[in-house]
Amino acid sequence: MLTAHEKRFEWIVNEFLERPAGDYAELLRRGHVSSPDGADPEEWRRDIRRQARQDKVRVITSRDGDRAFAMLHRTIPADQEMAVLREAADRITIFGEIAQRSRALGHQPGSWLRHDDESITTCQSCGARIYIKLGERRRIEDGEALTDPCPNTGTP
Ligand SMILES: [Zn+2]
Repeated sequence: MLTAHEKRFEWIVNEFLERPAGDYAELLRRGHVSSPDGADPEEWRRDIRRQARQDKVRVITSRDGDRAFAMLHRTIPADQEMAVLREAADRITIFGEIAQRSRALGHQPGSWLRHDDESITTCQSCGARIYIKLGERRRIEDGEALTDPCPNTGTP
């Protein structure tokens, strides 16, 4: 794996570890979420809105003193709906195809961690890595789980 990709990989892992599920994930799951104790409410709102924008998810945020709230605004404008769905479907197809290639080498890629247009995963058996960056024009794919066979499979 290229050093630059390796650095991005580590960065995404660390960000994920700092916020295991994250309030934004909770928002997507439950439809609403409030800021944790001690969090700066404005900073928290900005963070939630940034992540929602990145996913083209519409949210409503508000603030009551030291506490901030966010809820999903579920309606997607009709003219955007198809594009959003197509983009999500494309991403699932791309990641499915990449995971399939890794499995062909014997790896067992786990779930993807995503940050903007970058995504990472590792083989659950040997820890081999995959780094993907979905660019406007070209896609970057890197990692030993796409090039080297999994050492932990095939031998009884
Ligand atoms: Zn493996």
